Amino acid sequence: MTGTVYLKRKRARPVLQRHPWIFSGAVERVTGGPADGDLVDVRDAGGNWLARGTFNRRSQIRVRLLTWRQDEAIDGSFWRRRLAQAVAARRLLAADPATTTYRLVHAESDFLPGLIVDRYGEWLVVQFLTLGVERRRDALTAALLNVVDGVRGLYDRSDVDVRAQEGLPPRSGLLWGEEPPEPLVVLENGLRFAVDVRRGHKTGFYLDQRESRARLAPFCAGAEVLDAFSYAGGFGVYAAWGGAARVTLVDSSAAALDLARRNFALNGLETPVEYVEGDVFSVLRGYRAQGRRFDLVVLDPPKFAHHRREVQRAARAYKDINLLAFQLLRPGGILFTFSCSGAISADLFQKIVFGAAVDAGREAQIIGRLSQGSDHPVALTFPEGAYLKGLICRAV
Ligand code: SAH
Repeated sequence: MTGTVYLKRKRARPVLQRHPWIFSGAVERVTGGPADGDLVDVRDAGGNWLARGTFNRRSQIRVRLLTWRQDEAIDGSFWRRRLAQAVAARRLLAADPATTTYRLVHAESDFLPGLIVDRYGEWLVVQFLTLGVERRRDALTAALLNVVDGVRGLYDRSDVDVRAQEGLPPRSGLLWGEEPPEPLVVLENGLRFAVDVRRGHKTGFYLDQRESRARLAPFCAGAEVLDAFSYAGGFGVYAAWGGAARVTLVDSSAAALDLARRNFALNGLETPVEYVEGDVFSVLRGYRAQGRRFDLVVLDPPKFAHHRREVQRAARAYKDINLLAFQLLRPGGILFTFSCSGAISADLFQKIVFGAAVDAGREAQIIGRLSQGSDHPVALTFPEGAYLKGLICRAV
């Protein structure tokens, strides 16, 4: 028997609008004694059937919805259909020989709550972020191998903190097939990148920035470029390829800078590159004190706000680095500035960047708006899926 979650009165609307989450506060009662991870039916206060999903009383998100059709079973065929739909949505990317790495499944926004699948050439890297998908790992693995062609290995990178909110420990390792080579070299817009899928950030690479990295290159001819929070040099490599006179990478991780060195070499780029291991805040302050200037600055920091309660503190940090960036830009200089904090809206981010320009005494214009790439879609039913925002600014 399937358990049933009854919603409180007047709490059915988001479900009817196909939002995939039911918070604990919306639940009136649970019948049928479902175990955590089990499928449950969701009914409104009047008993009408609304949807079906996976249950977890250890999470504030009590139910993650999978279907709004009562006759749709959650079985192998269901997972294959959903995965095939996500794969089909990437057919343009799949057909592009210049790009062999991209996100195949973007969780809730691909109607597969809790599941991330990234493609790195012939290897897939997966993250099972919730108990609902963790419990169905074997079925999902089988379905994935059924719908994706040309896979040599499947690697699990479920070693992420958010799993704790679901009562799950971190885990990583080979799930199926061959071990990925070290390094695994992939192509993005014709450029080569060495990816460490075992230990690298996220699943190995910041795939969400592909389209923004491509936007950077045309600005770089002859420019002195500062790539702050560079990780493996994603933006920096595009800058060099775009004809930069000099590229300076700043990151606090020595391992990331080692990867960056490999990436410049892999692309045969002879641009002078400076690798600076350090804290961006203090390195940029040092440059300001020395009177060092750049023609282009990229600021791609990690998530500063993990929760709404951290927004204020994060806003100050975003403002600090943007202020420093404006102070380091030559007249006519270009700033690519990002925030990947979901809790910071695009509107608020623009205000922060505005405040930074004012304090730096620089007049600036927005000449482009950036967001996560098309392989990181945002389902209209799930606006929470929009997290990455960026501005291209020109400092007068
Ligand atoms: N631009 C990169 C992704 C950057 S991710 C790309 O396109 O691939 C953020 C990076 O910031 C990580 O590599 C992390 O090591 C680094 N980082 C985090 N805090 C930092 C700090 N205070 N100073 C310098 N680097 C930092």
